Order: sequence, then C-alpha cells, then structure tokens
Amino acid sequence: MKSKGKIGITSTVPCEVVYGAGYVPIDLNNLFISSDDPFRLAESAESKGIPRNYCAWIKGIYSIVHEMDGLSAVIGMTQGDCANNYALIENFIYEGVPVITFSYPLNRDVEDLNREIRRFCSRLDTDIEKAEDMRLQFKTIRAKLAELDRLTWQEDKATGYENHQWLVASSDLNGEPEKFETMLSDMLDRIGSRTASPPEIRLAYMGVPPIFSDIYDFLEEQGARVVYNEVQHQFSMPYEADGLVAQYLEYTYPYGILTRLKRIKEEVGKRRVDGIVHYVQSFCFHQLEDPVVRGTLDLPVLRIEGDKPGRLDSRTKVRMEAFLETLRDKGKRGV
Ligand code: SF4
Repeated sequence: MKSKGKIGITSTVPCEVVYGAGYVPIDLNNLFISSDDPFRLAESAESKGIPRNYCAWIKGIYSIVHEMDGLSAVIGMTQGDCANNYALIENFIYEGVPVITFSYPLNRDVEDLNREIRRFCSRLDTDIEKAEDMRLQFKTIRAKLAELDRLTWQEDKATGYENHQWLVASSDLNGEPEKFETMLSDMLDRIGSRTASPPEIRLAYMGVPPIFSDIYDFLEEQGARVVYNEVQHQFSMPYEADGLVAQYLEYTYPYGILTRLKRIKEEVGKRRVDGIVHYVQSFCFHQLEDPVVRGTLDLPVLRIEGDKPGRLDSRTKVRMEAFLETLRDKGKRGV
C-alpha cells in the first residue's frame, strides 16, 4: 500500500494505529540523536527562541520538525510524558504545524485507554481492526527484539549498545517494518553465533535514552555491561498481550515512576544486576524521581546527568569509574 506520508512522533504512541492508517511514523527523538550533528540542532532551537533551560530532546525535536521536509503532522502527547512536550506541541500549533494528540490515562484504566486508542484511530481516519492487524504483523518483530534482549542478559552475547540501539528503534520500527525485521534477523544470526563474553559487572540503565554518544562503549571498556535498558526495553513491548489496549497498558513509561519501578525490580532481579545507572536529562522533571528510585531499589544507584548531545564529560567518567570500583569491591566481599 502506498504510504499517505510521514508523521512525526515525539514519544512512544501506538505506532500500529499510525501504520494501520497508512502513514509512516517517524520517532523524532531518534532522528535527532542519530543526525549528523545533534549538537547543532539543539543550539539552533535556542537561537530560534527555545529557552536554554529546556531539555535538549525538546530542542532537538523542535529543530527536526522545522528542518525536515514532507512531514504530514506531528503526534504530541498531552498526558503520559512531560509538560515540556505539551508546551512544545502548543508551539507547533501556534506555528501552523498540523498536530494530532494522544494521551495515556494516568490511572492506567483499561476503558480509558481503550477510548483513547479508538479516538486516536478515528483522528487518523482508521479503525481499531486495522491497528490490530498491524499488531499481529509486528508480533514476530517484537519476538525477535525479545530474543536480542535475551541474548544480552542471558547469553552474554549482545553488547549494551546493541541492546539499546535495537530496542530504542522499536518505537517506530525505523519507519520500515519489513526492512527492520530483515536487518534484525541478520543481527540475531550474527550475535547468536558469537562466543559468550560475560561482563565483570552487570548494570541496569534506567531513565530516558542517553544524550551521551559513548556511554555504552565507555562502560564496556571498564568491564561493565548494561544488561537491562529500562525504557528502551519498554519501547520494544516484549510482553505477550492479547490486544492493543493490553499491550499499551503493559508499557510502563507513561504511568509514573512507581509503576515503572515494579517492573524494574522484576527485571534487575531476573538479570542478576549488580548496580543501576540512573540517567537524568538536565532540566527534566524525572530528576525529582531519584529519591524514590534510591528508596525503592535494593541495589547501588548512580545518578548521572546529561545536557547537550556529545561525548561523556570527564567528571561523569570519573564518577562512573568510582561507582564501578565500589561494585567490584562489593562483589569481592560477597555483599
Ligand atoms: S527528557 Fe524529560 S523533559 Fe525532556 S522530553 Fe523527555 S521527559 Fe520531557
């Protein structure tokens, strides 16, 4: 079927609805961070009036929307993400960018989400049946993503970066589901044929995807591997669900830190994680969740903060080295 055009998404929404409607969803966050010069995009937004003390992801999305050709509309979240995102959407509406909204009910109520997904379908001139067809088509892709994840934490064959890269891309399946699946199958073959290389230290990474380009490589160089990428894992929706509503109820990110922490606790236990890197973005409300994270998880937590896109700064490197040293000592003492 010929595509009706590209629609930008500012956060993970039911992409099955967008594909079912004949559009191609494009995750604007992924496009921003994988662009040739994400730093320039963030700076460019500031020069156009986005205040300096807004997070770099907001700035990046703002610039991408203004520089990208052929975007039919932007899907913005009105609930389940952040107030910055909401204000960004209002800027787009003011500037004449076509906007379609989606919201996750904060109460995680099945009927409310059902109504919202149906409203979303009708806004895109499609119906729930077509979206469900897409969900069934994507089941094999989601199963393959779950296998890549398993090869990371259970077989020690995939790196933390590979895990991040593939799971984060599942928010829009790179806009080309068939090609995505073919490439993923090839990747699984390659990873599956490797010899296991167990890391000295097993880490969980929680929080929004990193703005740092080299965090996974740095950790691997230090003998540590991220065996659980929390939000990216959620993007991949690896849980068996019997419908679209059930699938997006299982997706924890929009339903608050307490909901997320329940899932995180299960996953870090299963994956034998030694410590947690809690990434927070400068100027992001998620920073306020750090005390809840520390109070809830029974593992050492290192909070790191990133601002503009680029490589790790030396202070963050030193703090991560010290954290890994603590985990090593703890391991030697068998605590
Ligand atoms: S990093 Fe935080 S402030 Fe920035 S877009 Fe994401 S949730 Fe919003």
